[in-house]
Amino acid sequence: MPIQLPDLPYDQAALEPHLSARTLEFHYGKHHKGYVTKLNAAIENTSYADLSLEQIVTAASENGDAGIFNNAAQVWNHTFLWHSMAPDGGGAPAGDLAGMIDTAFGSFEEFCASFRQAAAGQFGSGWAWLVQDDGQLSIVTTGNADTPVLGKARPLLTLDVWEHAYYLDYQNDRASYIDTYLAHLVNWQFAAANLN
Ligand code: MN
Repeated sequence: MPIQLPDLPYDQAALEPHLSARTLEFHYGKHHKGYVTKLNAAIENTSYADLSLEQIVTAASENGDAGIFNNAAQVWNHTFLWHSMAPDGGGAPAGDLAGMIDTAFGSFEEFCASFRQAAAGQFGSGWAWLVQDDGQLSIVTTGNADTPVLGKARPLLTLDVWEHAYYLDYQNDRASYIDTYLAHLVNWQFAAANLN
């Protein structure tokens, strides 16, 4: 059963004016779709062919199959990314998550500063994540296709900091892209639903 490209959870223009339909057209329609296509070509007629996406990520990592791992992890990461954003998202979370953010970071403002610093500081391509580990929230970054889905920390949210994620709208200004994500896009309801 080939791995499917999941539908976007919203219309390609739904994140405007913060992320353009053109960015989604390329990022979802070309990059994400491309990882799915390359993954399916790579796993066809192999022992990976009947595994779930998560099983492929884990097995390819254990086996050192870098090409399969990179494409499978990127499929997983991008699917998680689309749900990490929402039209009318952004701002501070409510409920239990608000208290957990305060406990872990001191305040929502301090969380934003730490997230901004981590996402801006990831050299080259990669991802910034809010994760839950042993009940505690923390921010981690991963390079290229690497993903916390392999570890014991549970991902709650992610931001793609590959240039393809923001270049059409923000050119080289990653900092403005990160600020826009925090102010207008981050989907706290998705993060709360991912809590253990
Ligand atoms: Mn991407």
